[in-house]
Amino acid sequence: MLAVNEVFETIQGEGGFTGVPAVFVRLQGCPVGCPWCDTRHTWEQLPQDEVAANEVLTISGDTPKWANYSAQQLVDVLTDGRFTARHLVITGGEPCLFDLTELTAKMSDCGWQCQIETSGCAEVRCDERTYVTVSPKINMKGGLPVLTQALERADEIKHPVSMQKHIDELDQLLEPCTLARKPQICLQPISTQKRATELAIATCIARNWRLSVQTHKYLNID
Ligand code: SF4
Repeated sequence: MLAVNEVFETIQGEGGFTGVPAVFVRLQGCPVGCPWCDTRHTWEQLPQDEVAANEVLTISGDTPKWANYSAQQLVDVLTDGRFTARHLVITGGEPCLFDLTELTAKMSDCGWQCQIETSGCAEVRCDERTYVTVSPKINMKGGLPVLTQALERADEIKHPVSMQKHIDELDQLLEPCTLARKPQICLQPISTQKRATELAIATCIARNWRLSVQTHKYLNID
């Protein structure tokens, strides 16, 4: 079963699919512990916060409420005609705490492009057609390592940066990896800070990487 915190339709604001209309499925639970996390309400999967499946579809705002869905139940909701987007973003929390193979295979069979956004701290289990974005969370409070399996499955490595140390950490992390899929590497300034943005721009130009800005924060949308 998948613990679903919310399902909503918006525009993908980050990374290689920026600007693409997308349905976001946010899963509940994350042990990573990033200090700047803006979805702390997804960290715990507490029994007292469990609600009926239909209820999470109507809740708006940041709440720790969640509901159990089978992959097929979620496919039924996503494809019943209520959404126009055909791009599915599975996020969290840490979505790779769950095996996403069945969900991503069924949605890909329905003609959707699936994307997973993960910290890299859990094994990525998904259909081969899925676009995987790893935003590696290095040395976070939860003490979890970024897995080589996740980095080598990535189609995109999107790294939050605010200082040179973060770029050095990324270099160290990627150095032992083969990265046969040749993922697009994107730097994303943390919290749209000016200094972080300047550093990210300079590094992207120097290395021919891509800049990812959190356009939804500039646009003030979810
Ligand atoms: S991995 Fe994502 S959800 Fe988990 S703590 Fe970090 S930013 Fe928050």
